[in-house]
Amino acid sequence: METFNFSAGPGVLPTPVISQIKSDLAQQEFTHLSMLEISHRSAQFEAIMNSAQQRLRQLMQIPDDYEVAFIQGGGSLQFEMLPLNLATHQQKIAVLDSGNFAAKAAKAAQMVGKKVEIVASSKADKYRYLPELPQNFNANEYDYLHLTTNNTIEGTTYHQADLPQTKGYLTADMSSNILAEPYDVTKFGAIFAGAQKNLGPAGVTLVIVKKDWLADQNIAGIGPMMQYQNYFAKNSMYNTPPVFAIYALDLVLKWVQDNGGVAEMFKRNQAKANKLYDFLDNSKLFAAPVKPADRSLTNVVFTTNDQDRDARIVKLATANGLFNLGGHRSVGGFRASLYNAQPMAAVDRLIEFLDQVERDEL
Ligand SMILES: *Cc1c(COP(=O)(O)O)cnc(C)c1O
Repeated sequence: METFNFSAGPGVLPTPVISQIKSDLAQQEFTHLSMLEISHRSAQFEAIMNSAQQRLRQLMQIPDDYEVAFIQGGGSLQFEMLPLNLATHQQKIAVLDSGNFAAKAAKAAQMVGKKVEIVASSKADKYRYLPELPQNFNANEYDYLHLTTNNTIEGTTYHQADLPQTKGYLTADMSSNILAEPYDVTKFGAIFAGAQKNLGPAGVTLVIVKKDWLADQNIAGIGPMMQYQNYFAKNSMYNTPPVFAIYALDLVLKWVQDNGGVAEMFKRNQAKANKLYDFLDNSKLFAAPVKPADRSLTNVVFTTNDQDRDARIVKLATANGLFNLGGHRSVGGFRASLYNAQPMAAVDRLIEFLDQVERDEL
């Protein structure tokens, strides 16, 4: 039975990447020069680090006036590093509360000593649509506006055309839709993304920051591991970087390049998500609760509106080789993550399964 992994993260990786990793490790087994065993100061790894950075710059069209680094600690560490490094003037940030991870970012910024203002929220409506920036938003009061482009748990996305119009700096948590659709990097002061959703295994987070904005900050008093500048100045090797995770990331980036880049990923992701939403909208058993204009391409959330039934169907899906379809523990229901590496065949199998369940249940 062919199986499919709908996990929201760590998520599915391209099959050719897994094969490449296996063959690299097997080949290097006796030399002890595999990616799991070599120095990060070796020429072998330095080439990979530079390759990963170059591929990312090419795929996202990152201009030269932006720095790129690979940092450990996940998206969650960026909830702290971002305000510590980039909110040193007003000491205050604005947050669009579009979901669980936006709220977490707001809380973390507060805990590292910054003032935080939730300028709009859709929490009262279970985050089923995206909050919009209020007309009277005054960017001068804040160091930046924090945005979560894709809300992994709730299944909503600010697409490029929906980005809030601010005269100030915009920062984006793109953890779950980076390279899933094109974004114009120049619209952002900073972008970060944990790799384990759409870019690779867990262990590395990419961070992109506009150089002149970073240079204009006063970061006296924060520790060296928390300073972006140390990662940028040392080519992400201020300390030992996650060698294996960066090697795997480079393979995934190569796979994206070989498959037509971000524009082609976007096309495929639209086709996959549209097919599934189409089925859900026509289903008598399943429903997608998110406002259609705000729906995510990478995380499709749905439910039968009956918790016990949802849980039972998730189990049945597992028995049928469709893994990790349960929604986040905070919301329940179903979540099908359709990251770049998810093939259309997974969506077809899922729809076939849901259709059968619908006929059996009704
Ligand atoms: C998963 C996720 C995070 C948290 O990532 P960690 O690497 O677990 O810290 C943050 N933001 C978004 C949008 C996510 O999907």
